[in-house]
Parts: sequence; structure tokens; C-alpha cells
Amino acid sequence: MSVSSPAVLGIAVPSPLRRLFDYRPAGAPPEGGWQPGLRVRVPFGPRRVVGVVVECRDDSDLPLAKLKPIEDRLDDAPLPADWLWLCRFTARYYQHAPGDTLHQALPALLRQGRALEARTRERWRVTEAGADETPESLGRAPRQAELLTMLRQHPQGMLAQAILAQSFTRPQLQALERKGLVARREEPRTGPADAGGPLLAEPVLPLNREQATALAALHEGLDAYHPCLLHGVTGSGKTEVYLQLIEAVVGRGRQALVLVPEIGLTPQTLARFKRRFRVPVVALHSGLTDHERLDAWEAAASGRAPIVIGTRSAIFTPLAAPGAIIVDEEHDGSFKQQEGLRYHARDLAVARAHHHGIPLVLGSATPSLETLHRAQSGDYRHLRLTQRASRHAPARLELVDLRGRPRRGGLIPPVFEAVEETLSAGHQVLVFINRRGFAPTLSCHACGWLAECDHCDARLTLHRQPPLLACHHCDQRRALPDACPDCGSADLRPLGSGTERTEETLAERFPDVPVHRIDRDSTRRRDALEQTLTEVRRGEPCLLVGTQMLAKGHHLPHVTLVVVVNADAGLYASDFRALEHSAQLLEQVAGRAGRAAHPGRVLVQTMHADDPHLRLLSARGYDALAEQLLEERRVAALPPFRFLALLRLEGAQEAAVTELGGRAAEALREHLRARELDVDCLGPVPAPMERRQNRYHLQLMLSAGKRSRLHEAGAWLTAWLEAEPAARRVRWSLDIDPQTL
Ligand code: ADP
Ligand code: ZN
Ligand code: ZN
Repeated sequence: MSVSSPAVLGIAVPSPLRRLFDYRPAGAPPEGGWQPGLRVRVPFGPRRVVGVVVECRDDSDLPLAKLKPIEDRLDDAPLPADWLWLCRFTARYYQHAPGDTLHQALPALLRQGRALEARTRERWRVTEAGADETPESLGRAPRQAELLTMLRQHPQGMLAQAILAQSFTRPQLQALERKGLVARREEPRTGPADAGGPLLAEPVLPLNREQATALAALHEGLDAYHPCLLHGVTGSGKTEVYLQLIEAVVGRGRQALVLVPEIGLTPQTLARFKRRFRVPVVALHSGLTDHERLDAWEAAASGRAPIVIGTRSAIFTPLAAPGAIIVDEEHDGSFKQQEGLRYHARDLAVARAHHHGIPLVLGSATPSLETLHRAQSGDYRHLRLTQRASRHAPARLELVDLRGRPRRGGLIPPVFEAVEETLSAGHQVLVFINRRGFAPTLSCHACGWLAECDHCDARLTLHRQPPLLACHHCDQRRALPDACPDCGSADLRPLGSGTERTEETLAERFPDVPVHRIDRDSTRRRDALEQTLTEVRRGEPCLLVGTQMLAKGHHLPHVTLVVVVNADAGLYASDFRALEHSAQLLEQVAGRAGRAAHPGRVLVQTMHADDPHLRLLSARGYDALAEQLLEERRVAALPPFRFLALLRLEGAQEAAVTELGGRAAEALREHLRARELDVDCLGPVPAPMERRQNRYHLQLMLSAGKRSRLHEAGAWLTAWLEAEPAARRVRWSLDIDPQTL
């Protein structure tokens, strides 16, 4: 077989430029010849960087003699082809630089040029000779005899670490090894390839009728792209359906990739997967060290890990034998990366499942309008679970009118009474408040001054522990002033309530019951959240005060009352998705109530108790509201009925940003007219928070009825900006399918 030797390698190097860079191959080609996916080290400007070969060609736009040779080849075999395909798709779809895309999709150690190898660990087991030997024959070496006895009790062998932890020593192991009684083996840390034996470590739950119907529908299409929306309230048994689907997939020797929201990958979730299966389950999340991440990646790429579960970036995990992709809580905002490469892991999951020809499950109690629309239009199969496995109706939202009622710590008297009743019945209460800190801001009672950030168009949040004013949009922190900077009055008061203030008020009011606050400030230590939740799961009456960290993922079976301190902030934001997102959040919070034997109550405080959307949500639930919102989106020509892209521009100089934004818009409109492209260009307009970290933010929106048109316009615009000298002084990025405007 002749191995081709291309004259040119098109290489993705870490750079914001939307193109490959051409180099000449040098040194010995690998056994399989030069191929896409091989990592190389190349000179790039003054630096040497790690790049990935993406194209092997015989021509270049530059004269071949001008091309620099690569310095080094780092791989003998290319990185997995499915990974490379997904990266190229992602760069194209999100119109992002290929080099930056590939780099972001690699574990840090591979980015730095390390080999794609898993670390190993040492396992010792008795040999046949060792199994026959009587330990007494080792009479003069009693510790060796004890060691042999111990190993004989572990036919699967024992890890060196565990042996040494029993106060045995390495020389003792080596002595037995020399006598041929024990043998050592290196195995990957993520677990052995195939343990053999049964797949399941615990029996499956017998499914209810709806679950069985859903699973049967999923089983039908194991060999084809087969997208499904699994639409079921919290506790309706979606996870059980995932588990049984995974069983079928793994049983056929394939791998399952499960994506969960950042907040959802709790030790509990992971434990549930690990309890069910006897095969390795590898988890990919932000808490891993670089080495652990590489191990997990290798285990997935080699096929040794049949089940891979991870947060957003896990969508870029290569799979040797992809069998199904599951996205749990598909509506969750954390699947969209909000900076740099602005990809949506759910949407990439759809593309990837399609590419591999495998089933895709999007699960949610509150599907995004995009997904719901595709299910209704027949692109996705719509599988519903309407009953809670624990057989009682989900709690309804009860609206509580805040108008004209005195508030303490954000709560009004009838709500305090409900809290009191619940606690005296021996149950737990969850108070949800989407603002951390003591109060949203500090104000002067004499003149109305409000504490504002010097760098952003935002108020400073008042914190008590420790006491200071902090901006949640930049790093600014300020000491509390003694007097109003405007009028000198000393009558400064907190305005509104945050988690700390509500916690303080509840602790005063219910001194005999523990109050646990759960927000980003109280859980900075890695295990603090789990510790608190373990305590809470014991079931003693208590109060939980928390932000969205508490709204999702965690099972809180003893909570029977949920209080939403203020439903209004999200409802009246300018963003067209604000209503959808708040309704999802409210449903998620409500889903925390009454998961065990007791039905729950959910009290939602609002200044707008007669708002039609809120009333619809309260009376008929998320699905009914979603129908209504879809209709409104159709009328307003907004997603999912149209496709959007947002050009964001930012810079220290407002004039430079405005000038560039104006010219970009003008040039684009001209182009759209000339090409008769059916794309609308709106703006430029200032971003909702115009000044952030002392930088000025501007945006330009593109909207089209056809995705291909939107991409055509976006590609033209990025090319224009890359060629425009003034654009080098302004930071800009294109966000395809923006989630927030
Ligand atoms: P979801 O993922 O939709 O929130 P889960 O799968 O976590 O729902 O199920 C909620 C609870 O009901 C879990 O404790 C689960 O063990 C239990 N459960 C799920 N399916 C069944 C079933 N078919 N029979 C009995 N219990 C079930
Ligand atoms: Zn004042
Ligand atoms: Zn700020």
C-alpha cells in the first residue's frame, strides 16, 4: 500500500482567524501517512504552538517554497475522526476560527502536546501457583503469608494502593512475585476494558405504562438517527427511562453519552448511574484535574468507558462506538457557552446524533420552545410522561399578591404563617430567591442616592458577610460608606432583599429551626453544598434559603413548601426569552416540593398577580404557557420561527465601537440588497447593559427565515470585519442562535 505524501498540510492553530494555516510536512510520516487529526508543533509568528492537521493537499494559495515546514509531529495516529468531524462542524456552524474551536474542544494536556494515553494503576492478583500454595510453606515470612492469604480472598486482584494501605510493603509483593505466587498488571485508572459478567449491578424498576411506551419507542430506532423529546414532569421517571435505554445500548457493545446541566451533575446523579451498571461510568465536569480529564477522554475514545456523563463541554468527547446521546434538562441555559466559542451543546448533540445515525433523547419537564416546536412539527418524536412515579400530582403554583403588604426579609405575613405551619408539621421549607448578597443595593433615605458601580451600568449589591458593596458584573468591591456621598445623610438603608437578608430574617423569626443558605457565596468550598444537603436529607425540619443552585437537580424529599420570594424580576426583563426562562425556573423550583409521601405547596410572591402569563402558568402549568408563548413568537417573527445571529462589539472607546458598528451595518445592508438576501439587519443598538467593566457594548442583530441565508450573511459580515483595519481596535464576536440578547 502506498502512503500518500501531501505537499501541504492545512493546520488549525490556536488563533482567532477564521482559516487554516499552510505548512510543509517534514520528518518521517507516520505509518498510516499524513492524515487529518495528527497533532504537530509549528512555528507561528514568534511562538511555537501545537496545531492539528485538518487538510492534506498538494496546493496552497502561497507559493510552496514560501511555506514553513512543521517542526515536529506529536502523534503516530490521528485524534479520533468523530471528534475532528464535530470540531469542523462546530467551527463552520458557529462561524468560529477552526484553530480556536479545536483547541477549546481538547483536554488541556492534549492542547499542550501530551500523548493521548491514560495513566495506569497497578493491580496484583494470585497466580495459579499462588492459589495452590499453602501459606504455611512461607513459614519464615509471616507477612508474606498474610499478604498471600489476603490476595487469595480477592480473585479479581487488588490495587497496589489498597494493598500498601494495609501496611504491606512493596518488597513483600516483589518477594511473592519472584516466587511466582502473585503477578502484577497495569490497567487504566478509569477501569478495566471489560469486566465480563452481567451488565447491571442492581435490578431495573418495573416501568409504568407511559415509561414502557417511551422506552419501546426508543428501542425501535437503535440503529438510526431517531430524535425524541422525552417530556415529563420532575419525578415522572425520565432518568429511569435513560438508564434502561443505556442498558440496551451498552448491551449491544455501544457507548452512551449523557449530557447534564452544570448544576445537575451532582454526586447523587453520578452515584445513581454507577449503582445501576457494573461497567465503568466516566464523568466529565469542571472539577476534574487535567490528568483526570485526559484519562476520561482516553477511556471514551478507546471505547473502554461504555457510559460517559458530563456537562456542556463533554459533547466534544470522542466515542469509539457511539450508541446514543441523551441530553437531560435540554432547556437548561448552561448548555450554551456564553463567551468565545458560543456553541450550544444540545444543538451539537442533535448534529452529532444525526451524523452517527444513533438515537437522541432530549429530556425535560419544561422543554425549550425550540425543542417543543420541533416535536410539534414532527421533526422529533414527542414522548410524554405525565404521571409522577411516586403517584401524586405535581404542586400547582399559588400566586401571592405582594401589593400593599408589609414585607420583612422579602416575605409577607401570610407566607410567614405558611412557613410556620409547615415547620410545625415537621417538614422542610425551601425559600427561593434569585439574588445573592444581603440586599440588591444600598440607598439614601434622604435624597434617594443608590450605590452604583463605577465601571458598569449596574447597582452594587450590599453584602453583610463580610460587609461590603460588590458589583456582580465586574470585580469592583467597595467599603460601606458611613454617609451618603451626595447629601451627607447617615440614613443609608438596604433596598430589597437578597439571600443573606432573608436568611437573617427567617433565623430571627424561627430561632429553633436551622436555616441553611445555599448560594455561590455560601458554597465556595467544594464540599460545602453536599455537606449541607446531606444534613437536609436527614429530614429534620429546617429552612433552606437559596438561589437557582437549589432549583435544579437536587432531590429534597422532605420539602413540602416552596416559597418564591419574587417572581417578577425575570418576567419583565427586556429579553424575548425572559418569560420562557422564568417559567422554566418556576416549574423547576416547584418540582422540588413534595417528592416523597407529602404533596407540596408552592407560593409565588408577585407584584403582578393578575399578569395573564403568570396566571396561565399558575392555573394550567408550563405546557399551556409554552403553547401561548409559541403563538406569540410566531406572530412576532421570533425564534423558533426565525433564526437569529447577534454581532457583539465592545471597546474602551465608545466612539470607535459606534463608528465600526454603524459602518458594519451599512456595509451588510448594502450586501443584502445587492444579493437580494432575505435577511433583516437590526441596529446597531446599545447592549442591554451598555457599559460593563468600563467597556462600551453594542450589538447588531441578523434575523432570517432560513438558516442558510443567516449563515451566508454571517459569513460575509465576519469576512468584512476581518478585513477591516478599524475592527482590530474593537473586540467583536458573532453569536449564532443567541440565547440572551
Ligand atoms: P425524573 O428523572 O423524571 O425526575 P426519576 O427517574 O428520577 O424522574 O424518578 C423519580 C423517582 O421515582 C426516583 O426515585 C425513581 O427511583 C422513582 N421511579 C422512577 N421510575 C419508577 C418506576 N417505574 N417504579 C417505581 N419507581 C420509579
Ligand atoms: Zn443622600
Ligand atoms: Zn461593575
